Amino acid sequence: AKKHHRAGVVVFNAEQADELSRQKVVEETLQVADLETELSLVFQPIIDVASRRPAGFEALARWNCPTIGPVSPAEFIPIAEYNGRIGLITRLLLERALKTAATWPDDVFLSFNLSPHDLATAEGVNRLVGIIRASGVDPRRITFEITETAVMSDFEQANASIRILRQLGCGIALDDFGTGYASLSYVHRLPLSKIKVDGSFVREIHRKETSVKIVKSVLALCAEMRLEAIVEGVETENEMAILETLGVGSVQGYHFARPMAEAETHAFLKGTGAS
Ligand code: C2E
Ligand code: CA
Ligand code: CA
Ligand code: CA
Repeated sequence: AKKHHRAGVVVFNAEQADELSRQKVVEETLQVADLETELSLVFQPIIDVASRRPAGFEALARWNCPTIGPVSPAEFIPIAEYNGRIGLITRLLLERALKTAATWPDDVFLSFNLSPHDLATAEGVNRLVGIIRASGVDPRRITFEITETAVMSDFEQANASIRILRQLGCGIALDDFGTGYASLSYVHRLPLSKIKVDGSFVREIHRKETSVKIVKSVLALCAEMRLEAIVEGVETENEMAILETLGVGSVQGYHFARPMAEAETHAFLKGTGAS
């Protein structure tokens, strides 16, 4: 990425300009999108290794825009975060995810991703508590997935928000563990219940001894801290075999199932013999 400075003006190269105009289009489209009809959720099973059964599902957002087509959450969530629509999106999706969770057996949990903004104010988290209470779903069946960026800007407020959710009975998972800069300090400072080991470690596990060592160490850390470990992004039988020798508790990835529509979760729960 090359920048040319001319008379104090920063001129981007063509690639950067394309990226910027794409961001602008997505942002403007999101601003006026009918979120109620255009947003949906899919659910990816989280598998308990010992029983090979789905212990829960992670809800993942999908945006099918009639004008620009499907947009990945990796693209539109950060933009919603930036333009302020994220609060509305989180509430809408949490309400729906809880409706789906209510159709599952009582021992199946829901994992739901929160954005930095969702934890940034007391009002914000109280609205989430209101949605959980109104849903009638036992808070102990809900885990909120947070990333390090969610607690980076205002640690005290984020920590307070997380404590409110924990007191209600919800679990808290630190997502994408190992990709940030201060993971260990957060393990130490936040009331976590789970750690999700990032899929990037799994990608290299069959050819890199260091990746095996890292995953092994994280699993040992989790055991020591009494945190549940979930390894993400498991794509092959080979990867699963290695992870199993390391004693991993839960896994998630295309090897077991892709994210699926709500209707398919019921068949998946039956097919693998859960409750
Ligand atoms: P994430 O929370 O780390 O979610 C895991 C992502 O990995 C998902 O991508 C999932 O579809 C994908 N994945 C699952 N198994 C595999 C695998 O075996 N291999 C590979 N290569 N990928 C796998 P997705 O659905 O595109 O979501 C991307 C990101 O967008 C999520 O990453 C999360 O950070 C964010 N996101 C998604 N839904 C929501 C939401 O409702 N709220 C918020 N705040 N963020 C969301
Ligand atoms: Ca996640
Ligand atoms: Ca993740
Ligand atoms: Ca991620």
